[in-house]
Amino acid sequence: MERTLPPSEETLSRDGSGAAPVPFFTQAATFARLWPEIRAHCTRVLDRGKFSHGAGVAEFERALARWTGASHVVGVNSGTDALVLLLRAAGLRPGDEVVVPAYTFVATATSVVLAGGVPVFADIEERGYGIDPRSVDAVATPRTRMVMPVHLFDRLADIRGVHEVARRRGLTVVEDSAEAVGMRQDGTHAGLLGAGGVLSFFPAKTLGAIGDAGALLTDDDTVAETARALRHHGRSGRTLDHFPGISNPTVHSGYNSKMDDIQAAVLLAKLGRLDDDIARRAELSARYDERLRAVPGVLAVPGDVPPHPGGNRVSYVHLIEVEERDALASHLGARGIATEVYYPTPLHLQPCFAHLGHRPGDFPRAEAACAAALALPLHADLADADVDRVCDGIEDFFTGRRR
Ligand SMILES: *Cc1c(COP(=O)(O)O)cnc(C)c1O
Repeated sequence: MERTLPPSEETLSRDGSGAAPVPFFTQAATFARLWPEIRAHCTRVLDRGKFSHGAGVAEFERALARWTGASHVVGVNSGTDALVLLLRAAGLRPGDEVVVPAYTFVATATSVVLAGGVPVFADIEERGYGIDPRSVDAVATPRTRMVMPVHLFDRLADIRGVHEVARRRGLTVVEDSAEAVGMRQDGTHAGLLGAGGVLSFFPAKTLGAIGDAGALLTDDDTVAETARALRHHGRSGRTLDHFPGISNPTVHSGYNSKMDDIQAAVLLAKLGRLDDDIARRAELSARYDERLRAVPGVLAVPGDVPPHPGGNRVSYVHLIEVEERDALASHLGARGIATEVYYPTPLHLQPCFAHLGHRPGDFPRAEAACAAALALPLHADLADADVDRVCDGIEDFFTGRRR
């Protein structure tokens, strides 16, 4: 079924009241606030004159390693490339299967294909959006080598449940922790709960750059060493002309996945404010929940699904489930309020995975989430008044004043 997506930010109009539009996301206020630090960091990079893979990247990697507690941080050009590098560095061989959730951003599964593997889909939990360990157990085959839980929106997947299945079946756990900046299980940061994980610094993410950037996190020395070589054409060691084929015999060629120093400079400045930003996101998220949990037509609010035992909550996306999702999105759009649908189509029904032979109904929970989920504006510089406007719009829609 073709769905109409919410109006894009460019087409948002002011509503009748003349109030300014509420964009889904903007960093304008963040940059105004952080400009002195960002300018200082960027000036140092410009003065040094080395813009790719330089000292600024190394400095950011060290700072992020401290903040996350990771033994190794490998800065790269995107979360997606970090996933490809992670899968290869963790030992994926051509044709190996990797179990991934059917409800996630497409890069979770395309990274498996790019790394030479085969994605195998599993359903998500009854409540919340993490991969369901029972479904992992059901879809795994003797060719399955890895499982990749994804930590979506505001909490970790059921990592203990995933580990239990992985241990029993001899699978390596790699995490798509692209959204999971600040999420921790029993104090251990997301991405360090298995062989390794990733972070995305796409501008809209909790820690956003001014373009694309990402990182691989791991406590495993070999994974880190392999990923460092892979991000830089397979180079290793001090000489620029040494391509050892890395430590995994199936891995011969690397990529150009290097992080650039201007992104690292911006990220270093923003890392200093990250704890405050996360606290502000939590406040905004709680404000949404308080207003929306009792509204008829609102089926689920994030605060009502507790984290798994030992896990914390970090609000990256504020995602509610609603009746008449597309009509509500249009209603809000007409009032100048932008929303996003995360994610419109489950991956097992995407045309690029049609060859895997799935049909509607194969993963009911993933399909239901795709039909009902609506992400509301959430970023550290959003005003309380903006949250109230969004909530007014939703309340109006469901209480019938719209008619
Ligand atoms: C953002 C995201 C990615 C990809 O990160 P990029 O930096 O945009 O390449 C992968 N997986 C998930 C779940 C994401 O949200």
